[in-house]
Amino acid sequence: MDFNNFKVAFSNKSDSDLNRASLLFKSISNPTMSSLLTGVIKICLWLKFPITPIIKATVFKHFCGGTTITDSQKTIESLWKSNIGTILDYSAEGKKSEEDFNHVMEETIRTILKAKSEESIPFSVFKFTGLTHFSLLEKISSEFPLSEKEQKEKENFIYRVERICKTAAENKVPIFIDAEESWIQDIIDNLTLEMMKKFNKTECWIYNTLQMYRKDRFAYLKELLEIAEEEKFLLGLKIVRGAYHEKEIERAKEKGYACPVHTVKENTDRDYNEALRICVKNSDFISICAGTHNEQSSLLLSELMEENNLNKNDKRFFFSQLLGMSDHISYNLSEHGYNIAKYVPYGPVKDVLPYLIRRAEENSSIAGQMGRELANIMKEKKRRKNS
Ligand SMILES: Cc1cc2nc3c(=O)[nH]c(=O)nc-3n(C[C@H](O)[C@H](O)[C@H](O)COP(=O)(O)OP(=O)(O)OC[C@H]3O[C@@H](n4cnc5c(N)ncnc54)[C@H](O)[C@@H]3O)c2cc1C
Repeated sequence: MDFNNFKVAFSNKSDSDLNRASLLFKSISNPTMSSLLTGVIKICLWLKFPITPIIKATVFKHFCGGTTITDSQKTIESLWKSNIGTILDYSAEGKKSEEDFNHVMEETIRTILKAKSEESIPFSVFKFTGLTHFSLLEKISSEFPLSEKEQKEKENFIYRVERICKTAAENKVPIFIDAEESWIQDIIDNLTLEMMKKFNKTECWIYNTLQMYRKDRFAYLKELLEIAEEEKFLLGLKIVRGAYHEKEIERAKEKGYACPVHTVKENTDRDYNEALRICVKNSDFISICAGTHNEQSSLLLSELMEENNLNKNDKRFFFSQLLGMSDHISYNLSEHGYNIAKYVPYGPVKDVLPYLIRRAEENSSIAGQMGRELANIMKEKKRRKNS
């Protein structure tokens, strides 16, 4: 597999798409420029300055499908032309009321129903923090006593999770549950495990996410394997490295507890790749999605599948990247017949902004990744010029 086949990687990008993308990545890759831009955006929003159209035409256009499911249709179709699926990710963040949380549940259900009717949408996805207050998840995870009001909010939240999972299973649409900060992850793990036991009896509809930067995730994977084997249900797992690395380290330092994440990148890589090995070995009752922009891990999974005589398009194995990132991995894997789907965030521009700002602000390891995106775009521009 040659991830450097840029002709394939950028086959759906016009010259003007490439020019826009290179300008965008040039801005994001420069740390001074990036923090200046995100600062300006935050100030403009605070001043209620009408910058939405500018954002929509630039960074939103690159990283998001649209403001609604219907508005994302063009992106869905464009990806599907290259056999790349879409995972519609309703990215409205920072919601605070019970009404908002119900709205996120209803919208997630709409993504499931949309996926049911379209081959081009192989999964749905949601986050627990879209369905209740972060502080409540924190309290439940730390087994802190809840007030009467919080107890009611907890019941509402569990109802929302169950309703989404039930709708996914009934409509035969597999659904990912994203992993979040370690101090709220226990409730996510416990409830997701319950959902897997309930709905993954004969087919795999519910997927938890394992963040392999966590020192305890390898042991947790082994524990899950034992539980699934003993209680006879199928395990669905999205395997990622983890998105909150700096935050995890800072909180552990501040509160004085042992750091829960690896601080040496090679250790995260080792655990990530080892998790892939174990999952492929246990493919009788595990389905996985490798959510990664790492070339070595993507290549490794394709090799492990081959070594274990698994078909490239075996539905138990998916690869996934974010829209607007690592197209060289997505398009080349797809070209070789593997199952690929992109996370396609969508939602009102101002609600998706935290996601977009994170894309721009991400830590140094991602800054390296942004540099790689830009280098790939420049190579394709040069290839087109010379051909
Ligand atoms: C489809 C998809 C779904 C995702 N879903 C989730 C999710 O549900 N929850 C979530 O938390 N993240 C999620 N992510 C983000 C993911 O966890 C990573 O942050 C991101 O993909 C970068 O890691 P990588 O494997 O692509 O590549 P790489 O660039 O090889 O790895 C970067 C990652 O390595 C780790 N790392 C960096 N520096 C160090 C260090 N010094 N020591 C140890 N480890 C280090 C961090 O996790 C960092 O993000 C998702 C990503 C994708 C593509």
